[in-house]
Amino acid sequence: ELALLDAKTQGEAVMFFDAGAHAHAGLEGALAQALTRGEYELHFQPLVDTQARRVVSAEALLRWNSAEHGLQYPGTFMPILERGDHIVEVGAWVLHAACRAACAWPDVRVAVNLSARQFASRDLLETVRSALRESGLAADRLELEITESLMMLNPERTARILRALREDGVRVMLDDFGTGYSSLAYLSRFPLSGLKVDRSFVQQMMREPRGSSAAIVRAMVSLSRDMGLELVAEGIESLNDLEAVKAEGIHVMQGYYFARPSRDWHPPDLDPLPSP
Ligand code: C2E
Ligand code: MG
Ligand code: MG
Ligand code: MG
Repeated sequence: ELALLDAKTQGEAVMFFDAGAHAHAGLEGALAQALTRGEYELHFQPLVDTQARRVVSAEALLRWNSAEHGLQYPGTFMPILERGDHIVEVGAWVLHAACRAACAWPDVRVAVNLSARQFASRDLLETVRSALRESGLAADRLELEITESLMMLNPERTARILRALREDGVRVMLDDFGTGYSSLAYLSRFPLSGLKVDRSFVQQMMREPRGSSAAIVRAMVSLSRDMGLELVAEGIESLNDLEAVKAEGIHVMQGYYFARPSRDWHPPDLDPLPSP
């Protein structure tokens, strides 16, 4: 009744389940049980400052290591988690686990993705604070990643919560920047630490160096400079990508070229990264 196929499309597993409410409930149940069964895990991927040649942060990426279905990626289960309330609980687990992991790292921040439902929950601030308190991680070593659509759902409330987080010392990054539809004028209303340029711009820019994506990336660079925001480029897969993005003035990067997300990731000890 729960048809779950593990088809690999474009490098990402896609989960098919029959559209019946019963099957859906079954999958939601399995995802809820996953928490008590300890089947969720975090994989970490570094963000590299190519100028200072050091790892500045690592993004925590959720995986479901299901006894039944094998290792599942967010693309397969996040949409279902986000429809129910479990995302709030799972999100809290992610925050706690990420902060705990980062405590073992020397001076490297940890980045945690927040979902809209989790952000909308009343407990968000308290969950963040308790993750910091219980792990002992300094607030300025935690960065939260939110999306434009989450931000625009309730802009007044978002601004209020972001201010409280920033006052605590927590950093806030706008993820997948450029793919949403928030207006640029609105950006300055939110106390963001930085922007993560979506990987689609990097990819498109490489395909068409004189195309509109390159122009948009250039605009993002000057916008972030003027607004005092940090800029991170996602999806750096090759030395060519790295050099093109660097030429546009972006120094902090993330992507398979540096490292794939992995469970056992730990920042390189002491020495800065070797030059590419
Ligand atoms: P995201 O936050 O934009 O994370 C980056 C995604 O790009 C990750 O996919 C990462 O594995 C992938 N990626 C990194 N470098 C490269 C590269 O060089 N090339 C390509 N093609 N891809 C790269 P992943 O882990 O499958 O996560 C997908 C999305 O799921 C994330 O996108 C994020 O929106 C969401 N997600 C992941 N973990 C969590 C979580 O704990 N909570 C919430 N709410 N969302 C999460
Ligand atoms: Mg992210
Ligand atoms: Mg992203
Ligand atoms: Mg993304």
